[in-house]
Amino acid sequence: MKNIVLFGPPGAGKGTQAELLKSKYDLVHISTGDVFRFNIKNQTELGMLAKSYMDQGDLVPDEVTIDMLKAEVNNNPEAKGFIFDGFPRTESQAASLDAFLKEKNTGIDGMVALEVPEDLLVERLLNRGKTSGRSDDQDESKIRNRFNEYESKTAILKDYYQKQDKYYGVDGVGSIDEITSKLEKVIDSL
Ligand code: AMP
Repeated sequence: MKNIVLFGPPGAGKGTQAELLKSKYDLVHISTGDVFRFNIKNQTELGMLAKSYMDQGDLVPDEVTIDMLKAEVNNNPEAKGFIFDGFPRTESQAASLDAFLKEKNTGIDGMVALEVPEDLLVERLLNRGKTSGRSDDQDESKIRNRFNEYESKTAILKDYYQKQDKYYGVDGVGSIDEITSKLEKVIDSL
């Protein structure tokens, strides 16, 4: 199995790259943000709960997010591996993911991080907001709050995976193709 955490701040290009990489490596792509948005669209209980947090750019509580992630993994028993996109976002999520994968006799092979400067991220998100219909991409204060959440709760995961010798930073500035090939080089080496 090959399990990759695709990491980076909002707007770094995780979703775009995960879509390209999943076919090349035959992996299942799980984006927790996409799962929440699907649930909101379908007005499920989980969707209602997540919406209030997402609308503000706050993280959805760990317990809810972790349970949902486990269910997504368990729904794909035939998978050759996973690309986790937007998860883990807190240390508690990372520890739960490690424990959960260990129970399945597998683990994370690497955290591959897209590194992009913040001013470029805001520009990308506001541009995406024009077409994505995502309300959290259309309002600069919500975007700023997502960065705050990232800095205060998520950025430390670099240390978490570095301690396990599993952190790989990739320059996330450039064309989509250029970035995909840099990511592929890292993933091929795992
Ligand atoms: P994303 O599509 O990854 O940008 O996520 C959009 C929003 O979904 C985030 O701003 C959070 O409100 C929520 N979300 C997605 N993944 C997580 C996670 N792992 N933990 C908590 N909240 C999350």
